[in-house]
Amino acid sequence: MCCDLKRRFLLLYATQKGQAKAIAEEICLQAGAHGLEADMHCLSEMDKYNLETEKDPVVIVISTTGTGDPPDTARKFVKKIRDKTLPPDHLAHLQYGLLGLGDSEYTFFCNGGKTVDRLLQELGAQHFYDTGLADDCVGLELVVDPWIDGLWLALKEVFLLQKEKEGMSNNVSADPRAGHEMNLSSKIQDLKLEDEGVRSFDDPSQKLLDINVASTRDTEPSLVHSVPPISQSALNIPVLPPEYIEVQFQDTQGENPHPSSLLSEGAAFEVPVTKASQLTRKDAIKTALLLELDIADTAFDYQPGDAFCVICPNNVSEVEELLHILGLSEKGENFVCVKVKQDTKKKGATRPQHIPERSTLKFILTWCLELRAIPKKAFLRALVECTSDAGEKRRLQELCSKQGASDYTRFIRESNVCLLDLLHAFPSCKPSLNLLIEHLPKLQARSYSVSSSNLYQPGKLCFVFNIVEFPACPTRPVLRKGVCTGWLAELVAPLLHPSKDTLDVKRESSPTEKICIFARPNNTFHLPSDPSVPFVMVGPGTGIAPFIGFLQHRQKLREKHTDWKFGETWLFFGCRHQDRDYLFKQLRCFLENGTLTHLKVCFSRDSSTAEVAQPKYVQEVIRLYAKEVARVLLKEGGYFYVCGDKKHMADDVSDAIVDILSIEMEVDKLEAMKTMAMLREAKRYLQDVWS
Ligand code: FAD
Repeated sequence: MCCDLKRRFLLLYATQKGQAKAIAEEICLQAGAHGLEADMHCLSEMDKYNLETEKDPVVIVISTTGTGDPPDTARKFVKKIRDKTLPPDHLAHLQYGLLGLGDSEYTFFCNGGKTVDRLLQELGAQHFYDTGLADDCVGLELVVDPWIDGLWLALKEVFLLQKEKEGMSNNVSADPRAGHEMNLSSKIQDLKLEDEGVRSFDDPSQKLLDINVASTRDTEPSLVHSVPPISQSALNIPVLPPEYIEVQFQDTQGENPHPSSLLSEGAAFEVPVTKASQLTRKDAIKTALLLELDIADTAFDYQPGDAFCVICPNNVSEVEELLHILGLSEKGENFVCVKVKQDTKKKGATRPQHIPERSTLKFILTWCLELRAIPKKAFLRALVECTSDAGEKRRLQELCSKQGASDYTRFIRESNVCLLDLLHAFPSCKPSLNLLIEHLPKLQARSYSVSSSNLYQPGKLCFVFNIVEFPACPTRPVLRKGVCTGWLAELVAPLLHPSKDTLDVKRESSPTEKICIFARPNNTFHLPSDPSVPFVMVGPGTGIAPFIGFLQHRQKLREKHTDWKFGETWLFFGCRHQDRDYLFKQLRCFLENGTLTHLKVCFSRDSSTAEVAQPKYVQEVIRLYAKEVARVLLKEGGYFYVCGDKKHMADDVSDAIVDILSIEMEVDKLEAMKTMAMLREAKRYLQDVWS
């Protein structure tokens, strides 16, 4: 019955870091197993598809970047469908399903997907399947997997309806039973039974093995141990992704490309680190460092409020460890040639752009692949095939199976397990290099907010960061540091005075260490163009970073333009302890020279001796100055900036402002929220928040 159904669908993706593309590829792969054909393209390849004439269903997978923007590759597409001159039925013929990816740690969750969805709806396009919004904060797969599972049925429903329509218009039914004995859902059920997208393992000897293993082990499940019911169930595991990369080892002659040449984002600059300071005391919970870069000899330019990206390598000892486990320690310096396998079954396979065609093995593992990435289920599925121990094999199957979804969440995703952790836990697993290249994502450059002004420190760029630390746990016996912050901390250690306990210890040094950076322009998080406009800055912890740049810039403008009128400036800062992590005590200087009009600070972990309890968090302090904040925003057309490392802070501040507006304007909360939306729209309420 199904062989004559129309089975093509258009699959479009827009990706920033590769996740949307990986998911689209997974859909493409599964489509084959469901007897469907996905015609897959990046949204940017607008010459390869045409929604205006598209008759088949369309599936869109799209991520979100920046402050709720669609990825760069979707920009042209969004511009096209945003065209206000298009009639409201422009895409009325189109049936689509959309999967948005985002991170609820950020305020505009999945906004890239939501925007495209809304614009398509406004042009009359119709959903054939409910929109899915997947949250990277809790695990994309929690939404992605069931969304893909449901997609097949929804697609087949569309094909059947199309077929019935065609049948009716021809006045002849293609299926002799159509519309009579069989209803639609029973037909779909037929199709479902014909699917071969999943394989189940219900070999009785396999079950026996697992029961025995479980009975001799702990009753508590862990990454490597499973307990009933999963240890005894038949499993639905994903289709084995076809291998598509071929690596050929060569000699050790030649030169590696420069890491910056792997960039698709634009020009990178190699710049010396000229200063490093530890801003926190030794006993602070987090260690914050300030680095100064010398950009004088480069064309790199920035405005206060901009962020930029640092190209970072993986940890040297992790690379060595991986080489050792893979049995490739001797070959680290050998060049490898990476190509697409000639006979691969993967459709449209190409060499990942972030892997050079020829470079040493160490180069690939150091600069190209995110070794710390949490392995996706497809990767686990592929690892099953390289594992010799039956018990380990079974556990890996469980972890990527439908039945093992909660174990995957608990022991892989929430435990932040990476490839090395897996290879330690499953010692008989020996993946080949090509598998790593196929499944590990690109090692991403990390973003940092500029914490200086090019007027105040010409030719310099400063930034501040906390050294990220992941404590030891059962799956990770040693403490690990963040990829980039751990590397930077090690790199600049010789520039610091580690023995002193005082804040702001600085030392000039000959510029020896260099790092590679590139611009990450931000069009809105900048000082008001009119200096007479007042503004409020809220930046607890390292969120203070861009505001140091704002204040330095402002100070120079005031010195240079004594005849200009400057609006008042407010800064709300918070940290844990006044004497341990008050990052920039020189804020007082800005206050004393009049650059900063109001400085309000709070300390969340200091015990107070005051009779009246002191506010602990910035949002509480802001509420104390409700009248002034409302005046700046409502009467004086002022700006409000929030920067920091957690969505919760940004949300709490935003709630405080809505309450303030509601009280001061004497309107209900809904009206206050509308005013807030207007402020955001007018780019007068601006956020730069990261997790
Ligand atoms: P990574 O190795 O990438 O680890 C960081 C994250 O990975 C963790 O938060 C966690 O989610 C996850 N993770 C990985 N492994 C584990 C594990 N074993 N256990 C638990 N979690 C794990 N940061 C600053 O300090 N200062 C700034 O000024 C700044 N500005 C930014 C501006 C923008 C626009 C953006 C997007 C981000 C900014 N950041 C800033 C954040 C910064 O880009 C990095 O994310 C941060 O420094 C951590 O990078 P890392 O490589 O050291 O850590």
